[in-house]
Amino acid sequence: MKLTRLIPEETGFDIDGVVADTMASFIGIAKKDYGIHNIVKEQITSYWLEECLPIPDEIIGKIIEKILNDPFGTGLEPISGAVDALTEISKAAPLTFVTARPLKAPIEKWIHTTLHKVPSSRIRVIATGEHSAKVSVLQENGIMNFVEDHLATCVQIHEAGMNAIVYDQPWNRKDTHDLPRTGSWKELLSKMELS
Ligand SMILES: [Mg+2]
Repeated sequence: MKLTRLIPEETGFDIDGVVADTMASFIGIAKKDYGIHNIVKEQITSYWLEECLPIPDEIIGKIIEKILNDPFGTGLEPISGAVDALTEISKAAPLTFVTARPLKAPIEKWIHTTLHKVPSSRIRVIATGEHSAKVSVLQENGIMNFVEDHLATCVQIHEAGMNAIVYDQPWNRKDTHDLPRTGSWKELLSKMELS
């Protein structure tokens, strides 16, 4: 399905895998802390890393814990184009980020630091703690369009009558719902009704 025009006030964003290159950070820690050198992003064909990576579950858990607690220490970088696009969008409407992370403070700090040109009063971060809670959070906050990389969450959003935009990643390509998809912040920005 094609991407339609998006009203900034009604559009929200997931963080990991959309704004933050979390999987690159994961691969970096696996290398640096555990000497695991043979992982590439294309191998991550499932959102659940245990299903697609030849790394013991225990180590996967430890790396994820690090990423959740210390985005800066784990070298979390923004996805290409995200900072420029979000900075532009923030001029039209405040930015709403909804993450399933259980811990809000570390990622909120990362967002504010990364989007350093966006006044902090124009950034809102909501941490739901679980994927399934996103739909109601979006409804409560008037978010009609949501950019997300977790396919199951995209489907829940779509089925609740909102517009889910899949941010293209190797782990979300088995989409049977033909949801609108983009892998480019430049394209997302071009679809925004900015005035
Ligand atoms: Mg995500």
